[in-house]
Amino acid sequence: MSFTRREFIKTAGLGTVGLTFPILLPIDGKQTKRPNILFIMSDDHAEQAISCYSKALINTPNIDRIANEGIMFKNSFVTNSICGPSRATMLTGKYSHKNGLRDNRDAFNGEQMTFTKLLQKAGYKTYMIGKWHLVTNPTGFDDWQVLIDQGEYYNPIFIENGVNKKYTGYTTDIITDKALEILEKRDTETPFCMLVHHKAPHRNWMPNSKHLDAYDNKDLPLPETLFDDYKNRQAAKEADMRIDDMYLGHDLKLKEGDFEKETGTGGNKEFAPNADDSWQKTYESLTEQQKKLWDAHYDRISKKFKEDNLQGKDLTEWKYQRYIKDYLSCILSVDENVGRLLDYLDKHNLADDTIVIYTSDQGFYLGEHGWYDKRFMYEESLGMPLVVRYPKEIRPNQVSEEMVLNLDFAPTFLDFAGVNAPQEMQGESFRPILKGKTPNDWRTSMYYHYYEYPHGWHDVKRHYGIRTERYKLIHFYNDIDTWELYDLEKDPNELNNLYTDPAYKDVLNELKTELKKLQEKYGDTNPLEK
Ligand code: CA
Repeated sequence: MSFTRREFIKTAGLGTVGLTFPILLPIDGKQTKRPNILFIMSDDHAEQAISCYSKALINTPNIDRIANEGIMFKNSFVTNSICGPSRATMLTGKYSHKNGLRDNRDAFNGEQMTFTKLLQKAGYKTYMIGKWHLVTNPTGFDDWQVLIDQGEYYNPIFIENGVNKKYTGYTTDIITDKALEILEKRDTETPFCMLVHHKAPHRNWMPNSKHLDAYDNKDLPLPETLFDDYKNRQAAKEADMRIDDMYLGHDLKLKEGDFEKETGTGGNKEFAPNADDSWQKTYESLTEQQKKLWDAHYDRISKKFKEDNLQGKDLTEWKYQRYIKDYLSCILSVDENVGRLLDYLDKHNLADDTIVIYTSDQGFYLGEHGWYDKRFMYEESLGMPLVVRYPKEIRPNQVSEEMVLNLDFAPTFLDFAGVNAPQEMQGESFRPILKGKTPNDWRTSMYYHYYEYPHGWHDVKRHYGIRTERYKLIHFYNDIDTWELYDLEKDPNELNNLYTDPAYKDVLNELKTELKKLQEKYGDTNPLEK
């Protein structure tokens, strides 16, 4: 049969739900049996920093609980590894070149179809709380309360259905307070879809006061590739996202006076001269009490840094420890707030009827290749943590190796709500995988395309590529024209570019053919166009 499952269903005009239930029931707004959807997402949360994925860095008992009571995906990937574009893809079920949001400078066209609009139409109440970051105001929500742009870690301003309101406190807690408040006063006869999207642990990693000293007496293991030499990888070499180049104040929280001048590019040479002012402004926005706790922690670190006068590799290792400790401490707040939501579902007897998802808009480098940030198609930022719990359909303790994408979220949510995924959505519902029944023709390769260059942060060249179960092929373009090929089985750290290795000639040809097929399938046949 030459049709894929999805094409067959589309031809039959039934949408993805047609697979298991060829006849759709009419949607009645009052129907109560459809599951609630609680879609919790954080920003830049790497799999390496979730204990069900790796025990090396942190203990996250609440996120782990979702995995233990449901399913954990080990090969969940993002199609364009950067904040805004990943979010736009999740909402629309479409690649960046189709939904129009290629990079963080684009504004989301809120007129277009999203899964929340379709759920609303089908009788769901839809809520959006937290980080939105799509420039235009949210559409398709009954109630939306979002941070301005990236938002602040402390004392945030929310835009609440168009009106600005300032709060005092820690943003990760406040986002959850808001979610609980809405759950408490909602109409219990109507299913809900709630997006709880945290700002944390996005740069510049400001932990809650109560977690400031969590890693005081513990150094974290160094990643294997902290001192990568970028051999045979020109784009990696030219990227400006090394921990070595972080801002000493804004990123690493040293006090003015304890270092001579800001030495880092911080990933943006144009912004670098303003980094001190920007950090000072953030610090000044803390309340007196918050400043007191902040200073009690960082003054000591800063003073010691001045005394120690570290150089070379010692300095890089110090920066890594400084960075990772703040990053992880922010996640401690995310995890405890996931726990607050799970507790609420338990207490109100909602756990059985609610699909709970925890994910991040992409992965992140925690010192691998000497980096922080994301963007590259390499494993750490291509991967996206994904755990899902829904006791009615997902057995506990499942681990899936299937390839699922952020592109699939919209059709999956619609599938659960009994709503046809429109033709224009490019993802696939992974509901069958959640139930433990992977379709025979499920994808074995995925397509990726990143655009934010030459403007923007970190100087990561534009690139597109394909990842199969074993291999990855990437083409960097624009002011560069280089290809990279990796054998992930032999080289999971992606240090050995095999593109010109004759032993991989056949593999390379197959990958190029498959890449072209995917570009045709998704309508990205002119990937080099500006
Ligand atoms: Ca992000």
